Amino acid sequence: MEKTISEFLENRTKEGLLRVLKPADARKEGSVYFDGREYIDFSSNDYLGLSSHPALRDAAQDATKKFGTGSCASRLLSGDLKIHHELEEKTALFKQKQAALVFNTGYQANTGIISSLFNKTDCIFLDKLSHASIIDGVLLSGARFFRFNHNDTEHLETLLKKERKKFKNSLIITETVFSMDGDFAPLKELVRLKEKYNCKIFIDEAHATGIFGKNGSGMAEEAGLTGKIDLIMGTFSKALGSFGAYIACSQKIKYYLINSCRSFIYSTALPPAVIAVNLASLEIIKKEPLRRKTLLENARYFRDELKKQKLPVLGFSQIVPLVTSSTEKTLILSEALKKKGFCAFPIRPPTVAKGSARLRFSLTYFHTKDILKKVTEQIRQHV
Ligand SMILES: *Cc1c(COP(=O)(O)O)cnc(C)c1O
Repeated sequence: MEKTISEFLENRTKEGLLRVLKPADARKEGSVYFDGREYIDFSSNDYLGLSSHPALRDAAQDATKKFGTGSCASRLLSGDLKIHHELEEKTALFKQKQAALVFNTGYQANTGIISSLFNKTDCIFLDKLSHASIIDGVLLSGARFFRFNHNDTEHLETLLKKERKKFKNSLIITETVFSMDGDFAPLKELVRLKEKYNCKIFIDEAHATGIFGKNGSGMAEEAGLTGKIDLIMGTFSKALGSFGAYIACSQKIKYYLINSCRSFIYSTALPPAVIAVNLASLEIIKKEPLRRKTLLENARYFRDELKKQKLPVLGFSQIVPLVTSSTEKTLILSEALKKKGFCAFPIRPPTVAKGSARLRFSLTYFHTKDILKKVTEQIRQHV
């Protein structure tokens, strides 16, 4: 055992892939502080800057005063408060689905939901770039699974034609905004295929919730396909500036999950403060659409500026990845930017495929055009 661990750590170090934790001193409105110095933070998922919103902070304090700090038990025991149900009703309305069920994290939602709805008589088709929590859910289900090339619906259809008939139930899974590429799933075509081949479809809106769609509910809303998508998962932990996740679905699936989903049943309910913050956050999404408009406008500006410099930039969303290919080049650029006060963490294998290491710029509401112009100039000087 000791030997295996040492070898693993030595190999990771040799390949320049050893990960270490870097605690920040503090965080404030788009900035992060390390060793007493301020850096513009391009690595957070606080897309709308809500984690420091006064309304959210007040909601956390009020709920803690009223209900205490912990929820003290699982939802099925005495951990279930009326505010959990209020949040589920508001989430269902927000996502325009019949019902919603709250989960403690997106990771727990994906692993729990997929594995409780599907089993070894079934098959699952998932995009090759799906998040680790989706992959783990698929593995846990025991279903046969087939990975289609990223956003390649022709490849998906070839697999469906060949495999679908051999199994009982079937599921197609995709993220709607991809976390490492910042691009969008071809939802319309995926829905057409799910109907043609009699599958269910599950979408992960972790990076789309709060940002896309007229009401900020996500890509399903933006594409006008909410009614045709069976399972819409999303999180409160990114643009909503809080913590936790949800599935929006039919009332019947919700009841089924309450009775069968192990990550829902065997985990303590989210604390009252978190639930109250999530409720407040949904209100802010409704009341302050300017945040998402500004974010997307600035993301477009940044991407255009990088493209003008002929830099290999991916995607279309608030996630702006700059592909630097080798891990070494990525580290060098990341360090150079850090010296100038910009913090963008390198994304390397195994998170992304070998040879596609990148600097991933996660934009937030606080990254003004002025800041983006300055960072573009620094990138230009160092690639
Ligand atoms: C972050 C993320 C998750 C996990 O959500 P947590 O609430 O952080 O556990 C799931 N899916 C995708 C696509 C994500 O980016």
